[in-house]
Amino acid sequence: FSSATDTIRATLFPGDGIGPEIAESVKQVFRTAEVPIEWEEHYVGDQVDPRTQSFLTWESLESVRKNQVGLKGPMATPIGKGHRSLNLTLRKELNLYANVRPCYSLPGYKTRYDDVNLITIRENTEGEYSGLEHQVVRGVVESLKIITRQASLRVAEYAFHYAKTHGRERVSAIHKANIMQKTDGLFLKCCREVAEKYPEITYEEVVIDNCCMMLVKNPALFDVLVMPNLYGDIISDLCAGLIGGLGLTPSCNIGEGGIALAEAVHGSAPDIAGKNMANPTALLLSSVSMLRHLNLHDKADRIQEAILSTIAEGKYRTADLGGTSTTTDFTKAICDHL
Ligand code: ATP
Ligand code: MG
Repeated sequence: FSSATDTIRATLFPGDGIGPEIAESVKQVFRTAEVPIEWEEHYVGDQVDPRTQSFLTWESLESVRKNQVGLKGPMATPIGKGHRSLNLTLRKELNLYANVRPCYSLPGYKTRYDDVNLITIRENTEGEYSGLEHQVVRGVVESLKIITRQASLRVAEYAFHYAKTHGRERVSAIHKANIMQKTDGLFLKCCREVAEKYPEITYEEVVIDNCCMMLVKNPALFDVLVMPNLYGDIISDLCAGLIGGLGLTPSCNIGEGGIALAEAVHGSAPDIAGKNMANPTALLLSSVSMLRHLNLHDKADRIQEAILSTIAEGKYRTADLGGTSTTTDFTKAICDHL
């Protein structure tokens, strides 16, 4: 990249616990690969910002809104009253309506399956997560599951558009409409409407219990999966487990107006924080998702390739993958591959 006008500004939240260590790894890999990105770093504050009612400042949110793209390390929400969880604040304020998790088998890292290659797309704003719970009378409580046409169409549209632009062939809507006739029924109706606009993509509907059974029997049966919030929470973790777990799985949150905030699936791992032991792969692969969102596919391919060959080679692996390498050694090995 030759001139300053070619550089893209992106927000980076290193986050808590192992966050700063794995964020450093991403920065180093990006420097080595000469990715034309300039990071705007933001940290979680130590007091509540009244404008966001959270430890995230208004300026941090503005940074993502302005840059439209960012990478987020794990954030541990401080315990106490009078503030919102950090993840909820981000999700609500930036309207991050879809959580996208690519799940593919990593060559050379053996799990029960060798041929996983699927994408889960989770509706991220409503469903069972609307936070509407109350006691009706003593001994009886009620929780409202909200499904709207607007949010369902939006996530379905994202899923089909994703399938089309990423060379995918099939979208499966995951549901329990036989029991949740109104809510999941509406979700499916919206998926069907969108499916009609994409005749080149095969559309199917799979009941969630059957989906779980099929996923553990033969995950290669699936391509792109789209589903309401709670099912997405469960199924996306199930899929992460198919390919090797927390240290490896990336995700990306998509917001209104094209915002993309990529993040690792795992938490702040306080047990290994500051010990140079964390596996940066999940955050690195999340940063690869971010590059793909920016259409920087050649950089994304190169970095992904370097990560995968380093893992496949097996010489440098972090402790969670059975190796003895530090975060910095593993990162250096990736940079050498670049
Ligand atoms: P949080 O409350 O922030 O979610 P946690 O205690 O639940 O923190 P997680 O981050 O969810 O911890 O991790 C669960 C386990 O997986 C821990 O033992 C942690 O060390 C391990 N782990 C998570 N992420 C990684 C990683 N990137 N590399 C290595 N080990 C990890
Ligand atoms: Mg956790």
